[in-house]
Formats: sequence, C-alpha cells, structure tokens
Amino acid sequence: MSKKIAEALFPHIQTDVAEMEGRYPPRKAACVTRFAPSPTGFMHIGGLYTALINCIVARQKQGVFLLRIEDTDQKRQLENGVSEIISTLRDFDIRFDEGPSSETEDYGMYGPYRQSLRREIYQTYAKYLVACGKAYPCFCTPEELQQLRQRQEEAGALQKGYWGPWARCRDLTEEEILANLAAQKPFVIRMRSTGREGVFRTIHDELRGDITMQENILDTVIIKQDGLPTYHFAHVIDDHLMGSTDIIRADEWLSSLPVHVEMFETMGFPTPRYTHLSPIMKEEPKEDGAGLSKRKLSKRKDPEARVHYYDEIGYPVTAVLDYLLTISSAAYEPWRKENMDAPVTDFPMDVSKFSISGALFDFDKLNSVARNRVNHMAPEEIAQKVAAWAEENEPAFYALIQEDPQWFLRSIPLWHDNRLDVAKWSDLTAMYPYLYRRQPLCYSPLPEKLEPHRQRIPAILRAYQDSFDYADDSAAWFDKVRGIAGAFGYAVKTGLYKKHPEEYNGSIADVSGFIRYAITGQLNSPDLWQIIQLLGPEEAARRVEAFHASLQA
Ligand code: GLU
Repeated sequence: MSKKIAEALFPHIQTDVAEMEGRYPPRKAACVTRFAPSPTGFMHIGGLYTALINCIVARQKQGVFLLRIEDTDQKRQLENGVSEIISTLRDFDIRFDEGPSSETEDYGMYGPYRQSLRREIYQTYAKYLVACGKAYPCFCTPEELQQLRQRQEEAGALQKGYWGPWARCRDLTEEEILANLAAQKPFVIRMRSTGREGVFRTIHDELRGDITMQENILDTVIIKQDGLPTYHFAHVIDDHLMGSTDIIRADEWLSSLPVHVEMFETMGFPTPRYTHLSPIMKEEPKEDGAGLSKRKLSKRKDPEARVHYYDEIGYPVTAVLDYLLTISSAAYEPWRKENMDAPVTDFPMDVSKFSISGALFDFDKLNSVARNRVNHMAPEEIAQKVAAWAEENEPAFYALIQEDPQWFLRSIPLWHDNRLDVAKWSDLTAMYPYLYRRQPLCYSPLPEKLEPHRQRIPAILRAYQDSFDYADDSAAWFDKVRGIAGAFGYAVKTGLYKKHPEEYNGSIADVSGFIRYAITGQLNSPDLWQIIQLLGPEEAARRVEAFHASLQA
C-alpha cells in the first residue's frame, strides 16, 4: 500500500534509488571532507575556521575537500551569496577540489554542489522511504502542532515533539492520505523513527570522544512543504552520495547527532566519522563588573566575527590562518616557529587535542601572531601585498604607492628591519603617517616634553636648516646636529647631561628630538637620518620650515 502513497506523493519522480547510487559511484579517496555553508550573508570567522579544518584534514590524508552550498532555505538566500563564499575561500587560500566555481557553474563529478539543484535526488530517496513504510506524509497545520505541544505540556510529557503516540499522521490510512492529497492539503514528509524512549547509545566524536545520547525518537521532517529537504535529510543524502568520510562541522549540530545517525542507519548507508568543532569564544566583563564571562563571537555584536573585517584592515591572510590554528591547537605555535614557510595544510593536526570549551578570541594574540608573520616576510612580498590591499581599501595610499613603487619598497626596511610593530597593513598609515600620508603634519599643541625648550627651538631649527646637506652620510649628519647642540647649550652626550644637568639646557637627545618632531610630528620614530633620506631634501626641508612657522604663530 505504501507504494501507492509514494506514487501519489511523488508522481513526477521517475528515477529510483538504484539509479542514483549508480550516478554517484563510491570514491577511491581515503578521506573526503566538505565545507557546507548556507549562503545567507557574509562569512563568519567560525565558518572560515570550519572550512580551514576540513581542508587540512583532507590534505593530510591526500583526500578530497569539497564545497557544497546549502541553499534549501529559500527565504534566507542572499543575492551573490555563492560568489561571496567562493571569493572568501579564495582570498584565504583555502582551495577546494570540487564545488561551485561561480554563481551558476560547478566542477566535479559528484554535483550539483548546490542543494537547491538536487531536489530530484532528495525526492527520489524520500519516495523510496515512503514506499517501504519508513516515511510518511504529515498534514498537520502549524495550529495543530501548536495544540500538540500544549497537550504535551498539560500531560507533563517528558519528551516533547512529534513522536510515537503523539504523531497524529503516523498511522493515517491509505484512504485518509489519498483524500487529503485530493483535497490538496499541504504536507511535509516525516521519517518514521524506530528509536526507543529512554534508550541511550554511544556515538563517537573525533574531538569529544565517546558521547552517550538518547536515541532519536522524533519523526523528523525530511521534506518540507516546498519540496526541498530539511538540513538533516540533505546532510545524510548528500554526504552519502558525495562520499564524505568525515563530517567536521560546528557543535550547534551536536544535539542532532542521534537523528543523523538514525537516518544513516535507516537508509542503510555507512555512518561517517563526526567531529563537532567548538565555537570561537569571547571573554568580556560581566555586567555587574564581577569577573569575566564567556560567550560566542556574535555577528551582530563583534566586528571581528566577520571574515572581511580581517582583510579590510589588512591582516595578512596567513596571519589569520596562523591565528585560528594557534588558538585551537597548542601544537600549532611551536610547529609554526620551525616551519614559517610551510603551507598551513602541512601542519600535522590532531583534532582530538582541540579544546572542547572553545578557542578564546584574543586580539593581543592575533596581533602578536600577525607581527611575527609580517616580520618574516621579505620587503618585496610586503610591497606587493600592501599594494593589493591598499587598492581595495585605501585609495590615497594606493595612489602614493603607484606613483613610485620603488620608493615604497625602499620605505619598508625603515620599520621592518628592527621594529616588530606592524601587524596589519592599516597600521602603516596609522603608525607611520609621516611616511605614507601626504597631508602636512600637525605640530600643535607642542608636546609637553618640548615646551621648556620652546623659545630656543626656532633658532635651533634655523641653524639646522642652514647646515643641512642631503648628501651627508648618517655620521656627518649627526656630527652637525651635535655641533648645533653644543652651540645652544645642550650637552653633546646624554651621559654628560645626566651627570651635570644644571650646566645645560638639555642634551643632544632633546635637539634631535626637535628635528624628529619637525620631520615626523612625533617624539619617537625609526632612524631619523634614514627617514630624511627617504623623504628627499625638499620634503625634509619643507617640514622643518613648517614646524618653525607653527612656533611663530
Ligand atoms: N549548512 C550548515 C551550516 O551552515 C552546514 C553544517 C554542516 O557542515 O553539515 O551550519
């Protein structure tokens, strides 16, 4: 009798399960992993993390890593959502072997890789399940489901939901079903659970070890009213047909594990290995001020939850990947130290050692990992990466680089050689505005440290300008500054000043500080002579004049 119902429900499905299995032959690869995002907006850093782990696991075992787009929730789709996912993975150098190559095209033999195009496949399996009595149509309206919940509340049912004695449509007769269909009542398809209430079983998770959970007893929806599958069903059918050996996904799916395991078993498919990754957490002060509390990084509250946050402010891609692995695996940092140039996919990763409580997001750590990464790059690589970043994100900076790329390349050793302070490309214009911004510097208010010298600075600057020769080497330039210091009552050595402060107006450090302030607008900078060489004679002179003028104003 179920065959008749299956036919009435899915008259348009002419394929069968055997044909589907033939279309997707078993794979030879020892490991197949997948990243299966829904195209519902920009990618969350947690999504990138999941993709990265899946990619590394596949690479380690010379396996296949595929991208599958889970677009069965048609209301939540975003225009260009697929291209956004593809380009984000490309930007972060996470390469997949099969999957969509654009909004409309795929590559790989196990496609289509967009669930919305696999409707016929899911319905073929659903039809088969109905035909063998393992699934049935449910005609309950939202109001009826609401009433069911209410009755369960009143009866004090421990297990809520659509199951066993509460599952009204479970035992409809063939006549009732056909009458409902003739009346065009909307329906969903539910899988008939064979789970037993109160029976527990152990399921293995690669990260969490053995987990004991109650068997699933709910008659879970597998096909929705719109004919598309639920996540649960699509997961089981797709991962079976696509040959996934490892399901590595966010731990929000952990509670659905009994449903998924039951579905694999009901279908007669081998169950894949599961790994449920803990989310990236954030620590913040409790509202009452007493200590810290942990919560998940949130798309709504935390800008750093958005993947594009990192490329927009110019963290090098490898730094972000290094960072994600550093916070999730204690073995990563020591490995990375020894293997700075190896691709992340070479990391001998062991997910069973990952933290169950979730990696903690920490900006200080991110910046320190990123500084190490920037420090390790050659100036040529930095120049090329900064240019690519600036083109997208800081047009004025990009124009400056384009004007004289060789000049830009020469500027890099200034901050790169001895200082470990740049973590991301936007730091360059923020920390070294005097190198990379064309607006005149701002000199007022005069820093407190310079205030006691205010009256003497103009004459000192004048003497400096008069003796300045761009051709002087570093030693000759400094000799002149020392000469000026002496002439204006400043100790020519800082040691001298320390011994007899009462005899001097200050020391050579103060005098070079005035020049530094003129050239950079700051009290600290990398080597001043080198900065002057980089800026050129006109610009260097212009800045000293500008500071001089600001003191007269
Ligand atoms: N589409 C699901 C999600 O984005 C995928 C979960 C999975 O990897 O199976 O959460």
